[in-house]
Amino acid sequence: MKADTIYALASGASRAGVAVVRISGPESKAAFATLSDAQLEPRRAVRTVVKDKESGDKLDDGLAILFPAPASFTGEDVVELHIHGGRAVIAGILEALGRLQGLRLAEPGEFTRRAFESGKMDLTAAEGLADLVAAETEAQRRQALRQSRGELGNLYESWRQRLTEALAHFEASIDFSDEELPSTLAEEVEIELTSLTDEIDGHLADERRGERLRDGLHLAIIGPPNVGKSTLLNVLAQRDAAIVAATAGTTRDVVEVNLDLAGYPVVIADTAGLRKSNDAVEKEGIRRAHCRARDADMRLAVFDAEIWPVLDDNTLALIDDDTIIVVNKIDLAELGEKLTVAEYDAIPISALTGAGIERLLATLANRVARSFGDMATPAPTRVRHRQALENCCNALTRAKQTAAEHRQAPELMAEDMRLAIRALGRITGRVDVEDLLDIIFRDFCIGK
Ligand code: GDP
Repeated sequence: MKADTIYALASGASRAGVAVVRISGPESKAAFATLSDAQLEPRRAVRTVVKDKESGDKLDDGLAILFPAPASFTGEDVVELHIHGGRAVIAGILEALGRLQGLRLAEPGEFTRRAFESGKMDLTAAEGLADLVAAETEAQRRQALRQSRGELGNLYESWRQRLTEALAHFEASIDFSDEELPSTLAEEVEIELTSLTDEIDGHLADERRGERLRDGLHLAIIGPPNVGKSTLLNVLAQRDAAIVAATAGTTRDVVEVNLDLAGYPVVIADTAGLRKSNDAVEKEGIRRAHCRARDADMRLAVFDAEIWPVLDDNTLALIDDDTIIVVNKIDLAELGEKLTVAEYDAIPISALTGAGIERLLATLANRVARSFGDMATPAPTRVRHRQALENCCNALTRAKQTAAEHRQAPELMAEDMRLAIRALGRITGRVDVEDLLDIIFRDFCIGK
């Protein structure tokens, strides 16, 4: 069946100097010919007036580039129109394309899906591309770019190949011997399975680094009411994100702010003051604060300099190695630079005057960078990668157990190896992933 030809605005929807409309599919050259008299040349920009031939209206003066199949993003004939990025210009051109037979507006992610389906990229690279478009910080961009260039996919593919080879050797040994398996070959296969399991386990033991980098590291600001948590959040966010009020217990819900800290994405949540309350709404806020504080990757505990050295017990109970401690309002009490809370160093600050905020930011950036650890090696970036890798490891472990317990049942071991190979293949999209595609490409926007 001949594929539809699809088109969409590939650049952002807001007003801009230049916009790019992409057309992909067998009819893209013909569609272009209805808008322009220019002769397209492969991979060269040609200047053209874009016209609505039906009405004779000139729509714009721009550039057009042809990327002939198969050397294009989607693997199909692609024509890109670089036009002025005004709403009316874009609307006029999209409308003119929409009137053509055999053309339709692309669905979200459809260009990239076609690129995947024509073998231009594996699923992890497609996901990397989506992440690259969504990247907001430098570290996110670096991870996404590497993934979109195939780094993660290549790693999984290399594991899959090694397993496939191991399986081939193993099956050959079954076919060839009527008696017992040649012991050295079986041993070699087992050694390979063990080393693969170790490598995949090592790759998984990264404390969700890749996923955290996509989602942002979650930092919860905790502390009793009125210590200045909301004020501090506003200082960190440099904008008024949370309500600051002198009456205790006003932050009743969780307020979140996304921050770029030294290139790493951090989601800071201001939580309701940790105190006992009879007010139902506030109680709910406090319950959420506790959940948030518990689930966060890191905590920022705030104490009050005014009542130093009295410390709030509820907050103290939540302090651990992943907590950064500040004593706020030092403009009201002179406490000196060196403070200790529960044997941890505490940073004296004033959210009001800005004193100590630089030191806090430096400490935060340092801790955040440390929590992401070594970014040199690729990490799984999605739950689905992690699940498939776990399935793969489980199958490999079963295969090894079978090998140890039933030397006489090689088919069982081969079957588990096949399952392990399939689990890896599902990550890159090599095997039966039809059910996954809608889910993966749904996250893209139109024009990608
Ligand atoms: P929260 O309940 O912990 O979120 O506290 P808020 O941020 O709402 O602050 C409570 C009160 O303390 C407000 O009146 C703030 O202006 C004040 N406040 C916050 N930080 C400081 C500070 O560093 N110094 C002084 N003097 N007042 C502060």
